[in-house]
Amino acid sequence: MAWFSKQKKVKAKESTPPAPTPAKKGEGIWYQCDACSEVVARADWEKNWNVCPSCGQHDALPVKRRFEMILDKGSFQELDADLTPQDPLGFTDAKKYRDRLRSTYKATGLRDAFISGVGTIEGRPVSVGCFAFEFMGGSMGSVVGEKVARVFDRAYERRIPAIVFSSTGGARMQEGIFSLMQMAKTSAALHRFRSVRKPYVSVMLHPTTGGVAASFAWLGDVVIAEPKALIGFAGPRVIEQTIREKLPPGFQRSEFLIEHGMIDAIVPRATMRQRLGQLLGLLG
Ligand SMILES: [Zn+2]
Repeated sequence: MAWFSKQKKVKAKESTPPAPTPAKKGEGIWYQCDACSEVVARADWEKNWNVCPSCGQHDALPVKRRFEMILDKGSFQELDADLTPQDPLGFTDAKKYRDRLRSTYKATGLRDAFISGVGTIEGRPVSVGCFAFEFMGGSMGSVVGEKVARVFDRAYERRIPAIVFSSTGGARMQEGIFSLMQMAKTSAALHRFRSVRKPYVSVMLHPTTGGVAASFAWLGDVVIAEPKALIGFAGPRVIEQTIREKLPPGFQRSEFLIEHGMIDAIVPRATMRQRLGQLLGLLG
């Protein structure tokens, strides 16, 4: 039985801003860019790591391809793949949480919204993890929090740098307080890792918001963002409604944040691997 009951059936609200998903773009041999409307060969767009060759728009990139892009070929070893989410509250909104997990697993083939393991970049070992936005908006529940904490734990034990790619709407509301606790847990694991004096590079993708932005994502020794990523705690719509003021153009986008000293660099996918390698060389 659910821990509370609702009289009125309300549609489940995602607290996450929409992110482009490759599935929406059709499966033909042509790809039309949302930003510039240019039509290019899908193969070229995919070869370009889902970046529009014409205007540089960065579309969502599946997690596995991101590891291919960043890590040395064949070096990635996935760990903690067997961790699967539970339903501690017996939560039901428009749908039972259990059913939602099952259908998302069927649709994405993922157990939860985070994939992690170890690999190498230009021969240097790293403990690495990446959010999968396609799994319930990349929301952080107990499993995601545990896996993020283990990225830092492994980095601590092996004395190697840590890299986390975030793309998330924040906490997973279906796990209530268990989800919120992950902010403290991941930050504590990161704090312990700091004692080995190896770098933690946080890469924020579109979008990075909520409890993830408010914990380990913004605690990187170096904080990098992809171009035009939406990054912040509450989304712009919520802020506008709260303060009743129009927000400046480009608010909460990478380009706005770097101007205001909130991030260290904006790095496009084409040079991400090289920049990470350079950082690890300098700091690792
Ligand atoms: Zn374009």
